[in-house]
Amino acid sequence: MLIVTEEVCQRVVDRSSAFDAVEKVFGAMATGDAYNFPVIREAIGHADALYGFKSGFDRAGLTLGLKSGGYWPGNADRGLTNHQSTVFLFNPDTGQPSAMVGGNYLTALRTAAASSVSIKHLARKDAKVLGMVGAGHQSAFQMRAAAEQRDFDRVIGWNLHPEMLSRLEETANDIGLPFEAVDLDGLGAEADVIISITSSFDPILKRNQIRPGTHLACMGTDTRGKQEVEAELVVAAKVFTDEVAQSISIGECQHAFGSGLIAEADITDIGAVVNGTKPGRTSDDQITLFDGTGVGLQDLAVASAAVELAVKQGLAVSVEV
Ligand code: NAD
Repeated sequence: MLIVTEEVCQRVVDRSSAFDAVEKVFGAMATGDAYNFPVIREAIGHADALYGFKSGFDRAGLTLGLKSGGYWPGNADRGLTNHQSTVFLFNPDTGQPSAMVGGNYLTALRTAAASSVSIKHLARKDAKVLGMVGAGHQSAFQMRAAAEQRDFDRVIGWNLHPEMLSRLEETANDIGLPFEAVDLDGLGAEADVIISITSSFDPILKRNQIRPGTHLACMGTDTRGKQEVEAELVVAAKVFTDEVAQSISIGECQHAFGSGLIAEADITDIGAVVNGTKPGRTSDDQITLFDGTGVGLQDLAVASAAVELAVKQGLAVSVEV
């Protein structure tokens, strides 16, 4: 079995390889070649932790495995990241473990890659203003990946906790773009592409704040009860997702679906757009919304890329199991 550590993942996997891996696996999901198994997530009654598994099999890429991990709220006090995860890959021919891969950095990369895939395929080509809602750990990864998809000339942002906005400003400046903090009306009025990446349980963005032609990538809602945008905004948009089953149960669409405002058939797999079998944006004044719920196959795809790159560079450690 090979071991690829967190540190090695950071050295060998870049945004471009994560993007390619995620775009490809979304395509494989849409053809039915790759599928996710049901997600397990449990409060374990110790250390206030939420722990679980995301798993799946990509028959096209021959990637079988799981991401195991969760959220330990006390970790920050110990100098550790609250979100902790590790990916395990197995040989699909024999069931033997093939690799153990650090999952923390890869989770941020694969989540940013997902919204970036949505921007590539759904945002207007002339998008100039990138709007950020959320300024936590993931937000910087999201901004960097988004900035590679369109010729943005500035970034605007809002966060519930304004003291965190400096992360957005520093990241924008680092990629050579000016940043301005705005209120939510200003964000909706000016942004061509909006990424939301928060832990919110109440709608932040309202239907009447969003202009025609905007692309939204809603990335924070990955659990029952979370919500970043009004259900009416989901109804007004042409909606795409990584996986419909997750979108209506734990994703941003859970509220509009639960209230009977949209049906499963109203939601399109982003992979079908990647494959060219279903249309993406069909007009410049359409609002498009990508509900990025986060699927296990994304984790397996980037972990598999990490193993390949680490082996090439002689950085994977081999152990007998
Ligand atoms: P973080 O803890 O570093 O930051 C949390 C962000 O949410 C901050 O901007 C904070 O100000 C904001 N926030 C917190 N409570 C809020 C509230 N009640 N209303 C509005 N905003 C609030 O977290 P992070 O690592 O940046 O992750 C952000 C979110 O993304 C988390 O909810 C996480 O579960 C989710 N996530 C989703 C995926 C996916 O694949 N879809 C992957 C990773 C993380």
